[in-house]
Amino acid sequence: MKLKSLEISGFKSFADDTKIEFEDGVTGIVGPNGSGKSNVSEAIRWVLGEQSAKNLRGSRMPDVIFAGSSDRKPLNRALVTMILDNSDHYLKSDYTEINVTRKLFRNGESVYQLNGQDCRLKDILNLFMDSGIGDNAFSMISQGRVEAIFNSKPEDRRFIVEELIGVSKYRLGKEKAQRE
Ligand code: ATP
Ligand code: MG
Repeated sequence: MKLKSLEISGFKSFADDTKIEFEDGVTGIVGPNGSGKSNVSEAIRWVLGEQSAKNLRGSRMPDVIFAGSSDRKPLNRALVTMILDNSDHYLKSDYTEINVTRKLFRNGESVYQLNGQDCRLKDILNLFMDSGIGDNAFSMISQGRVEAIFNSKPEDRRFIVEELIGVSKYRLGKEKAQRE
């Protein structure tokens, strides 16, 4: 499974329709301060279902919609589509290519789509659950989080390692069995 491309339109600083293609290997995004590098990773976080505006450096979710600039009017909706190559069926879906879309309008209307079909947020969360890619997984490490990991207590750091290697679901199962 691999990230093929990302389409961003009206999301944060991306007023114009923007398509980013990810080639094989490692992709680095470079640019001056404030040029929108972090906004790209936030677009990924958002399309994966992020529900906290704070985690996207806003106070309310509509803050992700392009707010206008000196020469452009604000826009009415933000749209992000993430296209994944799933030819190895790493994600449990019959599709060999998976498109995930999230749209948000200023009036609060919100749309989620999987391969062009309207779906629920839950369907997107389910698709990525246990894949190591969800909005809470450690595949996305933001600037502040690196510091938080270094400064965390040993128990908390162990929790992070357990998440990474996939032990936590067994620990949760064990705790549940002990309670019952
Ligand atoms: P740095 O190198 O400092 O980390 P960066 O390249 O990561 O910078 P971002 O933080 O991604 O930059 O982008 C910040 C820019 O995005 C700011 O100029 C900010 O005004 C703009 N921005 C954020 N939200 C919106 C929005 N809703 N509408 C328009 N512009 C926005
Ligand atoms: Mg940044």
